[in-house]
Amino acid sequence: MSAKQNLQQVLDETFQGLEQNRLSFKANLTLEEVGRVSQLGQGVARVSGLQGVRSEELLRFASGGYGLAFDLTEDDIGVILLDAAQTGAGDLVQRTKRVLDIEVTEQVLGRIIDALGRPLDEAGPIEGKRLPIEQAAPEIIQRAPVTEPLQTGIKIIDALVPIGKGQRELILGDRQTGKTSLVVDTIINQKQTGVICIYCAIGQRRAAVAKVISDLQEHGAMDYTVVLLANGEDPPGLIYIAPYAATSIAEFFMHLGRDVLIIYDDLTQHARAYRELSLLLRRPPGREAFPGDIFYLHSRLLERATHLNEAMGGGSLTAIPIIETEAQNLSAYIPTNLISITDGQLYLSPQLFYKGVLPAIDIGLSVSRVGGKAQRRAYRELAGPLRLAYAQFEELEAFARFGTRLDETTQQTLTRGRCIREILKQAPYNPLKVSEQITLLLAVNEGLFDDLPYAMLTQLEGEIRRRLKEEKLEAEEHIEQNQSLTVSDKEALLGLVKGVIAARHQGEGHG
Ligand code: ATP
Ligand code: MG
Repeated sequence: MSAKQNLQQVLDETFQGLEQNRLSFKANLTLEEVGRVSQLGQGVARVSGLQGVRSEELLRFASGGYGLAFDLTEDDIGVILLDAAQTGAGDLVQRTKRVLDIEVTEQVLGRIIDALGRPLDEAGPIEGKRLPIEQAAPEIIQRAPVTEPLQTGIKIIDALVPIGKGQRELILGDRQTGKTSLVVDTIINQKQTGVICIYCAIGQRRAAVAKVISDLQEHGAMDYTVVLLANGEDPPGLIYIAPYAATSIAEFFMHLGRDVLIIYDDLTQHARAYRELSLLLRRPPGREAFPGDIFYLHSRLLERATHLNEAMGGGSLTAIPIIETEAQNLSAYIPTNLISITDGQLYLSPQLFYKGVLPAIDIGLSVSRVGGKAQRRAYRELAGPLRLAYAQFEELEAFARFGTRLDETTQQTLTRGRCIREILKQAPYNPLKVSEQITLLLAVNEGLFDDLPYAMLTQLEGEIRRRLKEEKLEAEEHIEQNQSLTVSDKEALLGLVKGVIAARHQGEGHG
């Protein structure tokens, strides 16, 4: 082969290679849609020059921060800022063409995260499935009736206003009436029940949230709990999205067939953050200056709580939103909205709180519209007489204060009522098992405590619980298996209580 031929061959091969390269070349160009920040406010911005953005779309700022397209007008977009990161007027803004999502895995249990799913503890990054924070609520045919109780371990709730798995029960009351204590106890009581808990702190002081977290840790409740928090100091945008993000985490577990309990503490702060954003974006204010869609805000959130049917895996999501009332005004805008959205409410009264009747639940103003059907059978026959006796007592108590001479039946009603009130009192971090509650309620209904000094009842309760643990009665099994109490079960339980009372009298006699 001549040198010329050789060269020709090399040239041919090179050209072939080049031609192939040309054919397989793909330009890696995309068209970015960008706009600019035209106005900046506290937690909000207006962005102009972005076409085709959809409502709730996530937008990225040049500073690295994110925002939610919220208020779409013909000229520009009102954006809720999700980051305190420095954004300035004139900055570039990019479309992301996706909605806001949060990363969820099973490893999120025990973690403390913010509303964007970023860890706030030192336990490393969280990587998992990305779930949009807003999801459509399950359809009616995917739902099943509420049939299982969610035991709070709090006597007055489990007996008189029972909560079922998949129910939405509102807790409302003025500030410092023990709202958070109720839910912390409920979370603690889910130990070893397989229920997963999400505590979503919304717009609270840091110290208050720190207290809840340390309480949960101290009682070994963090293993099955996720804390998602947006503090009062966070941008209002983060406070606004917090409950939706928390619900997506809850749904992740619900779709795995688990029972989940979610607490929103509290939605008053959520409504306020939303009002702030809406006013800054110049949306027209309505009643109490809240924007017109505030009802929809909370109803679409709470619609996501449900009990799924077997075909959907049978998981459930129980929601307990908390609302802070002002000067006991239940008929303010946000409380009435929430009362009508939920399946019942627990009202905490400051009067009861100051009298030391704790938990300060006002039975007359509290109701559970679906939990009764899920309540353990053993409670049902006790709850009726208990509620009646207590209501009669509350009515009479006002009269009795005037020192009028009372006939014997009235006297008896008063005594019984005081016993019931005393037995329903409960200290924090002290949830009771179902069988312990039933034993105490049975005894008070039978009048076993009528002749005892009230101060003695707390001690007596402790002793009765200790004896129950020792004796392991068959009746306890029946209660756990959701059977009605038989005559012999009742005798056994009452016998145990009588034994404890007698032992105490004897002890006093000797002393
Ligand atoms: P805030 O409005 O500040 O959120 P809150 O309504 O959540 O308050 P908590 O923080 O739960 O109220 O409770 C207020 C105080 O009452 C706490 O100091 C708590 O220890 C006390 N407390 C709550 N429940 C009980 C109870 N059952 N027995 C004794 N003390 C209680
Ligand atoms: Mg609180």
